[in-house]
Amino acid sequence: MEERKQTLLLGSDAEGIAQAARLLRESELVGIPTETVYGLAADALNGTAAARIFAAKGRPQDNPLIVHIASLSEWEPLVRELPAQAVRLAEAYWPGPLTMILPRSGRVPEAVSAGLPTVAVRMPSHPVARAIIEAADRPLAAPSANRSGSPSPTTAAHVLADMEGRIAAVVDGGPCSVGVESTVVDLTPTLQGGPVRLLRPGGITVPQLEAAAGTVVIDPAVTDRLAEGAVASSPGMKYKHYAPQAQVIIVRGDPEHYAAYVNRRAQEEPDRHVAALCFEEDRPRLQVPCVMYGRRDDPSSQARGLFDAMRRLDADGIDVAYAACPGQGGVGLAVYNRLLRAAAFTIVDA
Ligand code: AMP
Ligand code: MG
Repeated sequence: MEERKQTLLLGSDAEGIAQAARLLRESELVGIPTETVYGLAADALNGTAAARIFAAKGRPQDNPLIVHIASLSEWEPLVRELPAQAVRLAEAYWPGPLTMILPRSGRVPEAVSAGLPTVAVRMPSHPVARAIIEAADRPLAAPSANRSGSPSPTTAAHVLADMEGRIAAVVDGGPCSVGVESTVVDLTPTLQGGPVRLLRPGGITVPQLEAAAGTVVIDPAVTDRLAEGAVASSPGMKYKHYAPQAQVIIVRGDPEHYAAYVNRRAQEEPDRHVAALCFEEDRPRLQVPCVMYGRRDDPSSQARGLFDAMRRLDADGIDVAYAACPGQGGVGLAVYNRLLRAAAFTIVDA
């Protein structure tokens, strides 16, 4: 365990960016805003600095980090090959919320890739993230800046709540515009003529990927959800992730049935602090405390609101939250994927 020190809260002006870059060059950890979620950044070419990320987050050693770049010229030295589909995806969606996995070069420390022969690279669009990478003058390894297992941070306050005393500084760039982590695609199958593989849904959607790179195979873990039946049980804590302390149960059904189900459960569980993790439109029908995450037909608003809503459940001391089930189209697939893990795959039909 590293010694605790005070975490600086830096502004996103020129002075804050310069100080963040200086700390990063000195192998320190800095929380930085990106368009997806806040990242916990370290010098990606310095194995010792990158290793500190795992300690600060309590991250399992076998979970590799994403390397963030600000220009295409930084990409080639990190990878052994750049297949045509990777270049097409970069042209279409970089800078933006897309991470590509390719065979790694010898320049990428083992710690960053957790010993894998591949490296994950992303070019963020957030102007402050880009400015910090440019000022540090090196790629930055940055996973989400939360303690491992807890909801990802979408504000500087979330980062401080998890990381105060564990990192040198956090740069406040305001709330994140996407709100869920980047889309992760594996490009290594394309080196043998195979399709791009979606490992994690995010702000770049499956139709967007297909428009630029052809067929996309969705890894079963993305949509792995249990039974269409009344109650699907959890496959185990191993897969619980992005989770608040509160128990989360996803409730599938139209708005009337959802509200009726939640109101009934609250009556049946008088000893537990029950809340609805719902859409704005659901509120009038609900007779329990509501923590809202966006509007029913607007997946982008759900993505922006989901992680903050999970943190509010805990701030409000909620024991169990019945979550309105999001659609799975577009960015909704990412929202559904995160909520499914927060709920440890527990879904009921109302
Ligand atoms: P985070 O930055 O905390 O959102 O996590 C990064 C995600 O990218 C995790 O799900 C990692 O497992 C995944 N990832 C990073 N590098 C690789 C890689 N080389 N191969 C497969 N997955 C990766
Ligand atoms: Mg994460």
